[in-house]
Amino acid sequence: MTQGQVVIVGAGHAGFTAAASLRRNGYAGAIALITAESCLPYQRPPLSKGYLDGLREDRLSFRPEHFYERKGIELLRAYRVEEIDRTAKAVVPASGESLRYDHLILATGSTPQAARLPGNDLDGVFRLHRRADADALRERLVTVSEVVIVGGGFIGLEFAAHARGRGKNVTIVEAADRLMARAVTPVMSEFFLREHVSAGSQVLLDTPVARLVGGDGSRVQGVELHDGSLVKADLVVVGVGVRANTGLAERAGLAVNDGVLVDRCLRTSDPDIFAIGDCASYPYRNRRTRHECVENAVGQAHAVASTLTSGESQPYRRTPVFWSDQADLKLQIVGDFSGSDRTEVIGDPAGRSFSVNCYRDGALIAVESVNRPSDHVAARKLVDRSGCSSPAQVEGS
Ligand SMILES: Cc1cc2nc3c(=O)[nH]c(=O)nc-3n(C[C@H](O)[C@H](O)[C@H](O)COP(=O)(O)OP(=O)(O)OC[C@H]3O[C@@H](n4cnc5c(N)ncnc54)[C@H](O)[C@@H]3O)c2cc1C
Repeated sequence: MTQGQVVIVGAGHAGFTAAASLRRNGYAGAIALITAESCLPYQRPPLSKGYLDGLREDRLSFRPEHFYERKGIELLRAYRVEEIDRTAKAVVPASGESLRYDHLILATGSTPQAARLPGNDLDGVFRLHRRADADALRERLVTVSEVVIVGGGFIGLEFAAHARGRGKNVTIVEAADRLMARAVTPVMSEFFLREHVSAGSQVLLDTPVARLVGGDGSRVQGVELHDGSLVKADLVVVGVGVRANTGLAERAGLAVNDGVLVDRCLRTSDPDIFAIGDCASYPYRNRRTRHECVENAVGQAHAVASTLTSGESQPYRRTPVFWSDQADLKLQIVGDFSGSDRTEVIGDPAGRSFSVNCYRDGALIAVESVNRPSDHVAARKLVDRSGCSSPAQVEGS
């Protein structure tokens, strides 16, 4: 069994799970879990879902404060690591004491992309990434009626469904020609487009935003589109994707390219430093990728915890899994549709319950399901397994 002090930078899903699994696996050395935020470590998915509907704050936290004491996990809050001193094997905050490590886990997550939009900093323009963002949005939503969402990705669409459900006039502005284009098949994009439109939202595709327009007191009043037209807004949510937080790793001289580069066992170019979760770029199906989802963060955390506890390197092999809740639609995805050469629809989109199976060279590489949990459960077992391409096998019902 490996020993020594483990320091984990970042206490999102990846960092929290790494600390908890190390203890569950019987790791006997010291563990320090560091977060730049001052609140208890919490989960992000509810921020664009149940938390907006009033989910209590304590239900957002992974665990209450006494959990960390009981498990012997030193939780350092409001502690922003500025540098990694690889020679001294220590993390260095802006002020205060450095912390020595024997094994370092970078779980620094991601940050919303700054859409370089003039007017980004107007009052009434929000991101939705941290608890503080959701708190501010919850409060502001009470007083507004015209909501514009810049970016038709998962988070923007989840927020759109919520705002629409609360009777707001909602416009979704997307620069690409379809919704959620990076993550789902065109069939799925089309389905969600129809759903959002029939719920009463206006959806503008192929529509880049030129700038956000302010009025008196620097409060946002509208969104100017590339053709010069104006969409009225008293609240704007910008959700145009995230970028990996790699600054620390870069300054420490670790290999970085759209994520901290790790091998199959999630080690960076320094064997004493691992990277997991949204910030890590790892080998997946002969290419490098980052999967920005909870299951990836949790699975990678488990793999590193096993490696450190057993002393034997554990490769990470899990297929990515994602979900999104938009009004009464539950979208669940196994695998990654990109690179597929054939798709097949099972079930009935008009009945709002169907799956899209995605194949490459005859092998099933991804399954997207809407309100069809049994397909999703079956797909988790089948995707990536060779010889599993029969649609009947995926149809779980
Ligand atoms: C609103 C929202 C909804 C989502 N919904 C879903 C969903 O439905 N399904 C799904 O699978 N995924 C969803 N996701 C994505 C999922 O939450 C992320 O993939 C997951 O949180 C990644 O976990 P992580 O630990 O890698 O990073 P993060 O959760 O981003 O945590 C990283 C932490 O590291 C801290 N940190 C960074 N740098 C430093 C530093 N230098 N010093 C100290 N601390 C630092 C940050 O403050 C942050 O707290 C959603 C994300 C958001 C924002």
